[in-house]
Amino acid sequence: AKSEQRGSYRFFDEDMDERLQQRFVLEGEMRGAINSGQIRPYYQPLIDLRTRDVVGYEVLARWHHPEQGLLTADSFIPIAEETGLIGRLTYSLLRRSIQDIGIASDAPYLSINLSPRQFADSLLTTTIGGILAETRFPPERLQIEITETAMVTRIDEAKATLDQLHALGLRVALDDFGTGYAGLYHLRELKLDAMKIDRSYVAKIMRNPEELRIVEAMIRLGRALELQTTAEGIESQALAETLLALGCETGQGYLFGAPVPELPAIQTLPEKEAR
Ligand code: C2E
Ligand code: CA
Ligand code: CA
Ligand code: CA
Repeated sequence: AKSEQRGSYRFFDEDMDERLQQRFVLEGEMRGAINSGQIRPYYQPLIDLRTRDVVGYEVLARWHHPEQGLLTADSFIPIAEETGLIGRLTYSLLRRSIQDIGIASDAPYLSINLSPRQFADSLLTTTIGGILAETRFPPERLQIEITETAMVTRIDEAKATLDQLHALGLRVALDDFGTGYAGLYHLRELKLDAMKIDRSYVAKIMRNPEELRIVEAMIRLGRALELQTTAEGIESQALAETLLALGCETGQGYLFGAPVPELPAIQTLPEKEAR
């Protein structure tokens, strides 16, 4: 029994070792990967559920790693946060995505994720404002997504940062709503513009009437607070239609498109004009 235990322990140990090693490697390579463009934006469309037009794109980070292939955000964002490279990473994604989408005022908006750590960065607003000025990107076409957990655990920093971002003219969305216990007070006090209902709730509503009522209540709450409501993780037509019927305005999910490395040339616009 003793050797068995030993065996499994060692196995676990090697596993840990490998993960730590990978982490160590990524940590060392990250700065170079940001500068060389190995880490870059992918875009996932945000859809008006009523008209099915693309109204915006969420910017999601991907790392084209020369040895490890395509890495999704979960495998390196935490490392970027811990090493303090998250600011650099975010600004690089913002610059690149503005370049990709262009500065036309009628094009879809960009929605970019901020990490809670960035609330502590005193240069955050100045840097974002600088990028907007330098690129002449219209501030009202930029939305910042901040998770509910981040807002609540760092409420004072969050409020100060949000006020500054609003002063620049940006929109702020509460990301992953339903996962972080933001109270009504927070929702009002932070003067948010939009609310994104987490995929974990959205996915279940077709199977479970209770879940459906919860999401319905979230959408009502959003509307009562005059927030634009977005549902994440829409994978079927039925789900899209149900959410629209519940009053949800915008949606995002594999039904409409997975994150892709290139923006489709804004081809929806002439089409719209022709209608
Ligand atoms: P998130 O902000 O909630 O982003 C949505 C995630 O759900 C994305 O995963 C997206 O690919 C995935 N997704 C979208 N539609 C569907 C769907 O219909 N079904 C399913 N199953 N999944 C869907 P991704 O890109 O792997 O990102 C994971 C998380 O990493 C993000 O969650 C966000 O919190 C974080 N993240 C991504 N990019 C950045 C970034 O540039 N900065 C920061 N700070 N965080 C980022
Ligand atoms: Ca997000
Ligand atoms: Ca989200
Ligand atoms: Ca999520």
